[in-house]
Amino acid sequence: MDQDSQDTPVRIAVTSCRKPADYDASVRKAGGEPWVPVVATDDPDEVLARADGLLLTGGDDVDPTLFGALPHPAFEPAEPGRDAHELALVRRALAARVPVLAICRGLQVLNVAAGGTLIQDIPTERRSGINHGGAPAATLAHPIDITPGSRLDRILGAAGDTGPVMVNSRHHQAVAVLGDGLVVTARAPDGIIEGVEGTGPAFCVAVQWHPESFHRTGEFDRLFSAFVAACAERARGHRP
Ligand code: MN
Repeated sequence: MDQDSQDTPVRIAVTSCRKPADYDASVRKAGGEPWVPVVATDDPDEVLARADGLLLTGGDDVDPTLFGALPHPAFEPAEPGRDAHELALVRRALAARVPVLAICRGLQVLNVAAGGTLIQDIPTERRSGINHGGAPAATLAHPIDITPGSRLDRILGAAGDTGPVMVNSRHHQAVAVLGDGLVVTARAPDGIIEGVEGTGPAFCVAVQWHPESFHRTGEFDRLFSAFVAACAERARGHRP
């Protein structure tokens, strides 16, 4: 840890979710200082004013009426208020170039915020030989192919001779129509989108798997390190 980061904590707003421990541990391991804004009472503008980065966490489904669809029978609503809170946070973060790391549901929130739509239930809406849901947290479930030259590729170093990256998988939804200003950076062999990122200069990386489940063993430490580094860089540019 360099002198800068010792003097100045890198403050990461981590959205409220039911299983915060692994996100907290992953951010801390990368040198960031996580805090969890309260959905019911914390104003998104105030959260963003004190955040050097935004981590959108996993959870239940985005309300499909927010992307113009009727709820699928498998719809599991997220905690009350969470959709609106997270959509407000990510829209403000993108506008203010606050670095964003979006995980699982977080990727889906990012996509909906950008005007995209979601596959509401992969098992009933897509033919696939891959089980994207249900495996234990840190179980590697399926490979992904990462787009060469993407930010995700540069972070994980997957280009060249390492071949496909194996990821865990605990989702029944995925991107259908991609939102504006986003590009696909990873797909599973069945075509399901497993990574997207912003095309702008700011750090905006989203993954459909759960890298935070691996903080004990380190498989995806580079993702959190790159995110916290981007947040630290932005903090240096925005503090007196
Ligand atoms: Mn998957």
